[in-house]
Amino acid sequence: MATVVLATGNAGKLAEFRSCFEGSGVRFLSLKEIGFEGDVVEDGTTFRENAEIKARAVASFLERNPGRAATVDAVLADDSGLEVAALGGAPGIHTARFAGPGATNSSNIDKLLRCLEGAADRRARFVCTLCLLRRRGESGVSEPEFFEGTCEGTILEAREGAGGFGYDPVFRPEGREVSFALMDGAEKDRISHRGRAIALLRRALAG
Ligand code: IMP
Repeated sequence: MATVVLATGNAGKLAEFRSCFEGSGVRFLSLKEIGFEGDVVEDGTTFRENAEIKARAVASFLERNPGRAATVDAVLADDSGLEVAALGGAPGIHTARFAGPGATNSSNIDKLLRCLEGAADRRARFVCTLCLLRRRGESGVSEPEFFEGTCEGTILEAREGAGGFGYDPVFRPEGREVSFALMDGAEKDRISHRGRAIALLRRALAG
């Protein structure tokens, strides 16, 4: 059994990782479960940089708190977001705070719908970058490994469904008739940006 800490406070992401790895022998711990508190400042300029910043913050917490690290084999961070064609690729790395400080899923979606009001071009893409740091010896970690997935789609004119998390109610993946929020979790995992990045990660963890 491998134990991986997922460096996120996002319950939706954690649920997707746990469901993708069910029965695989990989167990995911939340930040709460290792006693990590506080915010990590994501001041990178790319998904990759921000994923590495989050993973390293948690790895260094484990180094400083060896008791908590005893059973942890690796730290994994997920940095993800939405790139909207008509907005020149925004909000991109700013997806979580699109509506400003204190943004919520709901205020972010409201802002996105306002920005695209009347727009004919509603193409968008979800991007997910994972950064894996494997623990080596007493302290220290391996070189970072990155896994990336994207999912093309369109932004709907109004919310559709209440499942999933984040922008799921307004994102319809290419080739599908419904939003992510109306799909069951397993179907979203098969085609989503995160599902695709996880497929690559699984191969690396198995090898
Ligand atoms: P991060 O936690 O800093 O990586 O920010 C990710 C942002 O993208 C948050 O606003 C999430 O809600 C959003 N996001 C990432 N993946 C998904 C997804 O699969 N569905 C809906 N929103 C997502």
